[in-house]
Amino acid sequence: MLNQVISESIIQKAEKYLNKANKIVIISHVSPDGDALGSSLGLYHFLLELGKSVNVLVPNNFPQFLNWMKGVKDVTIGNKHDASSKELIEAAELLFCLDFNALKRTDQLASYIEKSRAKKIMIDHHPFPDNFADLIISHPEISSTSELIFRFICQLGMFDLINRDAAECIYTGMMTDTGAFTFNSNSSQIYFIIGELLEKGIDKDAIYDKVYNNYSESRIRLQGYVLYEKMRLFNEYKTSLITLSAAEQQVFQWQQGDTEGFVNIPLSIENVVFSAFIREETNKIRISFRSKGNFPTNQFASEIFHGGGHLNASGAEFSGSLDEAIDLFEQSLPKYKQLLV
Ligand code: MN
Repeated sequence: MLNQVISESIIQKAEKYLNKANKIVIISHVSPDGDALGSSLGLYHFLLELGKSVNVLVPNNFPQFLNWMKGVKDVTIGNKHDASSKELIEAAELLFCLDFNALKRTDQLASYIEKSRAKKIMIDHHPFPDNFADLIISHPEISSTSELIFRFICQLGMFDLINRDAAECIYTGMMTDTGAFTFNSNSSQIYFIIGELLEKGIDKDAIYDKVYNNYSESRIRLQGYVLYEKMRLFNEYKTSLITLSAAEQQVFQWQQGDTEGFVNIPLSIENVVFSAFIREETNKIRISFRSKGNFPTNQFASEIFHGGGHLNASGAEFSGSLDEAIDLFEQSLPKYKQLLV
């Protein structure tokens, strides 16, 4: 049996919003990952079954290894179609904000969302949500927004309207946000839900294959280069750092998603508990943090780089140079020595 994680009063309000709205827009965060897209498309397929007119909108493109998901062709990419994304939000009667806790996570869409008079429902699992939605369904104890979407639909009493397409998308998000159920995945409820999704007809082995065995040759070569040439270990801090310049990415014809997951790899080294990946983009530096055990990467991200996220997975953006970001990272490690060793 599934616990009722979402409070009954919130479900009742959501039900009212849903009954009143026909034009619904689902929005997720910049650099959409498997959970962003999985939760959005899972909800999308459900709302279609419910007979709603529904659109999915993301600020920028998603990685190529998610291209196979049902419904991706109908997703509007905000930075490619600015005018139509603005129109969609303006015309919406109800907005779902999925897998993000602050409007700035939607980049250029944030101002459109802010101006919208539509009711807004946030469904998310990042801690400390901002108060921009009419209904906030925020559960940091749940490992993926996709799982929350499953729970949301079930608590609405509409489990039967989850079709196979929705089930596939929900499973994908649950899988990718837990590293294929290798972290944040000790709740037995997760496996109860997987059982239900299997009953809906998903092929979980095929989904794994499509997500994780779907890389380009250049990505695998870039991974080899990064691990051989670019990974540095700071043994006294049980820390690993990978850095990548824009020029290096060009050599390997970097594409969106090509460096996804690199930050996790050093954690498979004995004694490494904290891993950072600093990557140069056109006009900013993007930083990802991961940890094993109790090291609070979100505290490090926020205190040093004004970023944030979960305990074991967080990130930040930095506006200086790549070298400045690297220096700042190295100089900050001693402050966290007690937490690291
Ligand atoms: Mn997520």
